[in-house]
Amino acid sequence: MRFLECSGTPYEVGYQHGQTFAPQVRRCYDVYCHFPGTPAAEIDLLLDETEAAHRPHFPNLLAEIRGIADGAGMPYHDVLLLNFYADIVGERAPHCSNIGVAASPDGPLIAKTVDLKESEREFLFVQKVVPQEGQPYVHYVSMGTIWTEAGVTAAGLGHVCSGLVGRARVAGGVSVMALINMAFLSPCETVTQALGLLSQYEVAKWGATLLLADDAGDLALIEMLPGSKAIRRTQNQDDLLLHTNHAICAETRGMMGDADLAEKYGYGELIGNSGARYRNLLHLAPQVEHTCAGLQNVLRDHAASGAICQHGAAELHSAAGIVIAPRWRTMWGTLGYPCQGEFIPFTP
Ligand SMILES: [Zn+2]
Repeated sequence: MRFLECSGTPYEVGYQHGQTFAPQVRRCYDVYCHFPGTPAAEIDLLLDETEAAHRPHFPNLLAEIRGIADGAGMPYHDVLLLNFYADIVGERAPHCSNIGVAASPDGPLIAKTVDLKESEREFLFVQKVVPQEGQPYVHYVSMGTIWTEAGVTAAGLGHVCSGLVGRARVAGGVSVMALINMAFLSPCETVTQALGLLSQYEVAKWGATLLLADDAGDLALIEMLPGSKAIRRTQNQDDLLLHTNHAICAETRGMMGDADLAEKYGYGELIGNSGARYRNLLHLAPQVEHTCAGLQNVLRDHAASGAICQHGAAELHSAAGIVIAPRWRTMWGTLGYPCQGEFIPFTP
């Protein structure tokens, strides 16, 4: 299991991350950051604009990114571009399946697969952070980045997320991954506080859906796309919130990138794959036991159509399976296919 504990200021946390995984951070940059057809000067202009949009609101994240760069011995510019490229140029294929259960013997539960391309799997790791200020937390994150996939804080706030494709870039918008990171790691301790923070910002280009759950028993889903957001709260004990990689709320559905855009960025197959996974979740989730073990079994599912544990269809490989019980401040996760790995408990 790739696991790293970091502590200190945001810069120091980043530095420990960058120093520990320096070769992988360099490789990660090489995997993601090539944009044929877009002049470097144009990218640099957009990157400057993006940094300026984040500076007033997310200084801690920029400090963490600077720390990663210094720790890995790379230019700040390159690590900044690695973190924000999908918000300014190019596209990162949307991925992952999410499940939220309103009530279980362990309070609300949230779960997900982390679906990645084969070339991306080596970059995923579990990081525990004891920050100088704020709540300790543990999360899954990609090397060289602040792209948090799932996590839980010592205050009992948990999140899992999955990608959505937006239509067009909104100038002055913020990175959806920066936003999720801040909602999760900021002083927010409850779902209501996190939704309040997320609602204040406009997403730049890359979209996402987030499932949030807290110690008090609250569970919510928020879809975020450039120009639109939608929130769903649970009303009843048997409520489920499910999500793959297409918008399911009426308010956001029209703001998704279309099939032509998906083809252009090379993940046309994902649209059908996402629909099949969603239909399978609609079928599976009400049937299984609403317990940590029951959700782990959903993450191991290999249905002929819409397998939740993915082994290469549409270039998706389930690099981890994760179940979070905010009440116990515990995240159980695999590193590797959920069908093959043991779910290991992590606490902040
Ligand atoms: Zn499998």
